[in-house]
Amino acid sequence: MSTYQGNKGSKKTPYSSASRPSRPTGSKPRFSASKGPSRPFKHGSKPSFRGNPSPSRGGGRGGRKGSFERIDVSRFISKSTIIEKEEIYLPTHTFSDFAIDARLKTAIANKNYIYPSPIQDKSIPHALQGRDILGIADTGTGKTASFLIPLINKVLKDPKETAIIIAPTRELAIQIEKEFNDFARGLKMFAVVCVGGAPIFAQIKNLRRGCNFVIGTPGRLLDLVKRGEIDLSTTRSVVLDEADRMLDMGFINDITYSLEKTHPERQNLFFSATLPKPIEKLIEQFTSDPVRVMVKTRDTSKNVEQDVIRVARGVEKIDVLAELLTKKDEFKKVLIFSEMKHAVEKLSKELIKRGFRAGSIHGDKRHNERQRTLKAFKDDQLNILVATDVAARGLDIPDVTHVINYEIPQTYDTYVHRIGRTGRASAKGVALTFVS
Ligand code: AMP
Repeated sequence: MSTYQGNKGSKKTPYSSASRPSRPTGSKPRFSASKGPSRPFKHGSKPSFRGNPSPSRGGGRGGRKGSFERIDVSRFISKSTIIEKEEIYLPTHTFSDFAIDARLKTAIANKNYIYPSPIQDKSIPHALQGRDILGIADTGTGKTASFLIPLINKVLKDPKETAIIIAPTRELAIQIEKEFNDFARGLKMFAVVCVGGAPIFAQIKNLRRGCNFVIGTPGRLLDLVKRGEIDLSTTRSVVLDEADRMLDMGFINDITYSLEKTHPERQNLFFSATLPKPIEKLIEQFTSDPVRVMVKTRDTSKNVEQDVIRVARGVEKIDVLAELLTKKDEFKKVLIFSEMKHAVEKLSKELIKRGFRAGSIHGDKRHNERQRTLKAFKDDQLNILVATDVAARGLDIPDVTHVINYEIPQTYDTYVHRIGRTGRASAKGVALTFVS
C-alpha cells in the first residue's frame, strides 16, 4: 500500500495540529493517496446520553429548503415540566469486558467513561467482530465512541488500516476528532479533518503526512478524492454519522461516490436518527447484514418549559427580545435561532450594539470564526449565541438555559430539535417562540 511521505513537519493547521501530538520520526503514515456491572445506566442523566428528539428536517445549509409546515402555535406552549420517570438501562458490559487493547482501555478510563451507553453496550461487541452496524441513534447517545473504539482497536491491531468518517457538519467532524484525540493520544495513529469552509491546502498537507483516519464532510471529502489526495481503495472501514442529516443537506450523491471508491470488503458503521427511503437504499447498497441497534430516545421537551411570545402590533420584536435578555439572572445562557444566515448576522450585531455579549454562527462564517464563537459561548465569555439550524446541529453545549425561536421553525421536528439544546442532562430549560 502506498503511503504519504511528503511534507514532514509541516505547519500547524487550524483543526488538527493544535491537538495533534507530533508524529514520531519513522512512524509510517498510512492513509494512502494516489500513491458487568449492575449499576444502572440512566437515560438522560449524567453521564448524559441524552437521547435527543427526532431530527430536524429541511433547513439545508442554513437557508430555507424543503417543505414548510404550518405549525399550530399551541404546540409551542407547555407548562408541564414533569420530568418523566427515567428509564434505567442496565449495561451488559463494562469497558473492561470488551475485547480491546489494554492501551485503549486506559484511554477510555482516562476519559472517565465507566459504563457503556446503551448504543455502545449493544454495538461495540459486534463491531469488534467486524460486523456492519446500523445504529439508529441521535447525538447525545454516545454514538461517537461506539464507532471510534472498535476502529481505533482495529488500527492498533494493524497500523495499515484506514478509516473514513463522514459527518454532516464541520462542527460535528471536529467534535469527532476531539474524541478521537482523547482516545488515541500516544497510540501513534492520527486523524486528519477535511471539512469545507477551511483551506484545502492545509488539509492536503496533513493528508500527505499520513493518517489512519480521515474525518470530514461529504463535499470536501469528495473534492479530495477527486483530486487524488485521498485514495479510498484500501479503506476498509467507513462511518456515516447522522446519515439522515447528510441526506437533508443534499449530500447523498457525494457520499455514494466516495463509498463506491472504498474497498469492497469493508466494515460499515452507519448511524442515523431516522431511516428515510434513500438512507434505507444506501444501507441496502453498501452494508452487508448489519446489526441493527436502536436506542430509544427520550422526548427532551419534557424537561423544557415552552411558551410563546406574542409581539403586539407596533412593537418591535427586537425590543421585546432585548428586554427579556436584560434579565441576566434568568437568561444565563441563551441560544437564539433564526432562519436565514443574514438574519442571524443582523440580529447578533444588533444585540452587540445594545451591549449584550452575543455571537453568531452560520454557514457564511469562516470555520475558525465559528469555532472561536462556539468556544466563547461554551466558556461563558458570550452568553448569547444566535444560530441557524444547520450551524447548531449536533452541538453538545451544556447549560443552555433558554432557547429562543426568534422565528418560527419550518417544521415541528426542527422545533423539537432546537429546544432539545436546552433541558439537557435532566436540567430544566425554557424554550420561547416568537409568534406574531
Ligand atoms: P455523543 O453522542 O457521541 O456525541 O456523546 C454525547 C456525550 O456523552 C459526549 O459528551 C461524550 O463525551 C459523552 N459520553 C459518551 N460515552 C460515554 C460514556 N460511556 N460514559 C460517559 N460519557 C460518555
